[in-house]
Amino acid sequence: MKSKEPQTDKSLNAEDSPDVESGIPPIDEEGDTHGQVEIPSTLTVKQLADTLNVSAVDVIKQLMRDGVMATVNQVLDYETAAIIASDFGYEAMKEAKAAEETSSKDTLSVEEEEEKEDPSALKARPPVVTILGHVDHGKTTLLDRIRQSNILATEKGGITQHIGAYQAEVDGQKITFLDTPGHEAFTAMRARGAKVTDIAVIVVAADDGVMPQTVEAIDHVRAAGVPMIVAINKIDKADANVEKVKQQLANQSVLIEEWGGDVISAPISALTDEGIPGLLESILLVAEVADLKANPHRTAIGVVIEAKLDTNKGSLATILLQTGTLKIGDSFVVGDTWGKVKAIYTDKGERVKQAGPSMPVEVMGSNSVPQAGDILKVVSDERTARRLAEELQRKREMEAQQPARPWSIEQVMAEIRTGEVKELNIILKTDVQGSIEPLKGSMELLNTEEAKVNVIHAGSGSVTESDVLLAMASRGIIIGFNTRTEPGALRFAESEGVEIHTYDVIYGLVEDVKKALKGILEPTYADVIEGRAQVRAIFSVRKSGKVAGVYVTEGKITRNSLVRILRNGESIHQSKVSSLRHLKDDVRELAAGFEGGIGIEGYSDFQEEDIIEAYRRETSNE
Ligand code: GDP
Repeated sequence: MKSKEPQTDKSLNAEDSPDVESGIPPIDEEGDTHGQVEIPSTLTVKQLADTLNVSAVDVIKQLMRDGVMATVNQVLDYETAAIIASDFGYEAMKEAKAAEETSSKDTLSVEEEEEKEDPSALKARPPVVTILGHVDHGKTTLLDRIRQSNILATEKGGITQHIGAYQAEVDGQKITFLDTPGHEAFTAMRARGAKVTDIAVIVVAADDGVMPQTVEAIDHVRAAGVPMIVAINKIDKADANVEKVKQQLANQSVLIEEWGGDVISAPISALTDEGIPGLLESILLVAEVADLKANPHRTAIGVVIEAKLDTNKGSLATILLQTGTLKIGDSFVVGDTWGKVKAIYTDKGERVKQAGPSMPVEVMGSNSVPQAGDILKVVSDERTARRLAEELQRKREMEAQQPARPWSIEQVMAEIRTGEVKELNIILKTDVQGSIEPLKGSMELLNTEEAKVNVIHAGSGSVTESDVLLAMASRGIIIGFNTRTEPGALRFAESEGVEIHTYDVIYGLVEDVKKALKGILEPTYADVIEGRAQVRAIFSVRKSGKVAGVYVTEGKITRNSLVRILRNGESIHQSKVSSLRHLKDDVRELAAGFEGGIGIEGYSDFQEEDIIEAYRRETSNE
């Protein structure tokens, strides 16, 4: 329900309103004013009622008259609240200008704040590093190894705390490592608007080589525009093949230095420590080139890496400080909560009085637990902190009611139309690896002077949550070709307003991308998997050719299902269910754990072990 744009048509006047009989008090028709009231940019029905000195029920009834159905905790925008206020005989005024100004100032991003900074106040700060790569390639082992062997000299012997990030010291220089490896965490932060990582280390196991998640990690890092270093791990293993990894990287257009590119690669063994000092040197080198700076003498801004409730200490949030120095006693707003710094702990569990740029610290003192990705800002006093937090709280409630997104595809399309944006970011998922290049090729042929296709990630397999995150963070759309969307990813895409377009013919895809480049693409549909069944036997049926005897392994297959036949993981046929039987009976659906017979329209070449995947097609984003 929208609380915006209420009907202001006063033809529905109190006298002839049937509501009068039901006890709604008549409103002030004479236009007597009780004076002026200050109303903030958003507030709840309850807060408005308090401001107007009437009951919340009266406000709700008045909103109903104006065509807005509301509840006590519903958040109203200023315009709506002002109309209601005038209905009750008040003249609304937007809450004091000063308040609005601080609030807009306090929502400045760290980058914007930095821009305003006097360059002479900026000092070099340690790089913040995230480790990414395919599962089991050694990310965690590497993080642990660096933590153990490079804790700050002064803190040797200290007990390391897992607070989500830690600092290592190399040649007297510090490096901050984020402790949650992987591109999901990396991109999730970015999608929330927090730019945390300065350098990404992609770990590739030398015995396994570049794998799908390696490619994903590389694409996520590239989309973020963060410099990368490749750590070729497990060189201690007999079947390690470093040269092959380099070749595979080149195939992904990651050109390492020896191959004439600019990406540093470091052969390492996270197990034996070999090469790790070299890797750390490389990180410092890349950091030097990136010229990372912050002003340690200003009020602090940081990002929440993780947060928890401790039974003794209350809310504890790991904050990665981005700029400024955080001190005990500072008042701060963090996300939609606030507080006063009561204690600061380092990653070694030591209590400190203050913490500067790039330092990860655990902060005690926020009134409730903030969310990862929330920004912490130090403000002048507790009152301001509280007001800003409450403002954000109202904003978030409002967004929950009518999802206001950080971006929308309509916005991108409009920007393409007006020429503000020249690239359409696409995440391409296909059934088989072999379709990627031809599809990319077909799409790139559509590039025009005005706008071009930018495939930021392409891979085979279904559309996952990580694809949705990447689309969010990069303002892109997802295109699936002969592939499906994981149910969780679809829900996520819907809630975040990310578009997933799926196709089974190239023509449709090409036509739509052409439209998208002109900024006129309509949302289409996404495939949602309903169930999977394994073919265990094949029967001949006189009437309809062949029927597959199946065992439903997950979800369900229904009579209306669209189906895809997968052989060795690849889709070999798409059609729909023509008959569905359990024992001798025709049934409407077959659920997981049941055996039955499935006939597929226009198909009879079943083989044992084939997977029949049932799906339905849903319109996305509507
Ligand atoms: P992650 O999933 O990328 O975090 O991988 P892990 O750090 O959990 O490592 C997966 C497995 O590889 C573990 O059994 C590690 O002991 C092993 N491993 C990690 N690094 C090395 C290495 O350099 N050499 C060898 N031989 N094994 C390693």
